[in-house]
Amino acid sequence: MTPHPKKLQVLRWLPNGWVMTRGSRTGRRMHLTFDDGPHPEHTPTLLDLLAKHRARATFFLIGQQAERYPDLVSRIVREGHDLGNHSWSHPQFERLDLAAQREEIDRTDKLLTGFDGRSRHDFRPPRGVMPRPMLFDCVRNGRRIAYWSYDSLDYSRRPAAELIASARRYPPRAGEILLLHDDSDLSIRVLETMLPEWAAAGFSFETLPRGD
Ligand SMILES: [Zn+2]
Repeated sequence: MTPHPKKLQVLRWLPNGWVMTRGSRTGRRMHLTFDDGPHPEHTPTLLDLLAKHRARATFFLIGQQAERYPDLVSRIVREGHDLGNHSWSHPQFERLDLAAQREEIDRTDKLLTGFDGRSRHDFRPPRGVMPRPMLFDCVRNGRRIAYWSYDSLDYSRRPAAELIASARRYPPRAGEILLLHDDSDLSIRVLETMLPEWAAAGFSFETLPRGD
């Protein structure tokens, strides 16, 4: 299993302003993204680790989690990371009609605006599911969808050693967008090893380029 999602073969033909599948190719930048937080136990540990390595990342938050743990969201922003929108309740988007999908996105955006002052946030659909009407609705409204180019597979519950071996076998390239999660400690255990190795290879870790 390679870290490069199959869907990328199709998505990369869409304009990057519609569905972002790559970041900056200048320099050796890597874009770490974390989905499904904030989590009361794992997000603080992750933030400590990122600070230690001067790494900035983009956090795609679930709205109802953000509402529940506002101090964590404030800390994410204060420490120089960016917020992204990962829906309000992480539903199966393919089962919702367009109005309900919009509601999931807009409600989360309003909440996030209260933390970072930005009126609009990149949207990452739960499980990467992108029903076509929703995609076109986002395009029409100038809302960028943030996909990823490199899947850490940290949600697969494989042992950390296996994920580290995979990260070494398939080294991320400059400008890659890495999919990670902060609702478990697995990504933290992988990054404890890989951040120093990637930094030694000349990478810096930065938030996704802003689309607004
Ligand atoms: Zn998710």
